[in-house]
Amino acid sequence: MAEMGTLHEAFVDELRDTYDAEKQLTKALPKMAKAANSPELRGAIESHLEETRHQVERLEQVFESLDEKARGKHCDGIAGIIQEAQAMMQENFDEATADACLIAAAQRAEHYEMAAYGTLVSWARAMGHDDAADLLQETLDEETAADEKLSTLAEGGINEQAAESAHPSEDEEEEEEEEPVGAGSSKRPSSSSRRR
Ligand code: ZN
Ligand code: FE
Ligand code: FE
Repeated sequence: MAEMGTLHEAFVDELRDTYDAEKQLTKALPKMAKAANSPELRGAIESHLEETRHQVERLEQVFESLDEKARGKHCDGIAGIIQEAQAMMQENFDEATADACLIAAAQRAEHYEMAAYGTLVSWARAMGHDDAADLLQETLDEETAADEKLSTLAEGGINEQAAESAHPSEDEEEEEEEEPVGAGSSKRPSSSSRRR
């Protein structure tokens, strides 16, 4: 009769999956950094690559704290995310659009990792593996910060620049009409007419 698995076994299994995911990312991130057009985006990806290498080592410490051998188990989830990122990098986009897509792909990877580490921290705490939980929390914090950095870059100009080539703005026309700043639609009464 087959023995029933425990949460501890599921935990070690998830650790192996995540260990493999991080290793896949150490191979994928250099290609993504190379594909980035914005120097800030390239820098952010490169620094997260460095962090990812430390995350691999941190997982080795987690295995050690549990007296388990550090061993990976193929992570299909991150493999799919990486595959989609690579397909996207083959597309012919303008520079800002390519960067916006690169951020989208990178954030999918970060969110996948955040979900994995969130579960791992919670399971480790529930079972009293506090050293493991602390290490895993450190990585979770790094993934969250990396995700936020990507949002900042996207919203700090890259998306806007990409949107500009998709839908050129009518700024020039507005200037010609000499409308007051923030007047918005011509159907709305201007502030001067409202005051009267
Ligand atoms: Zn346990
Ligand atoms: Fe990671
Ligand atoms: Fe990450």
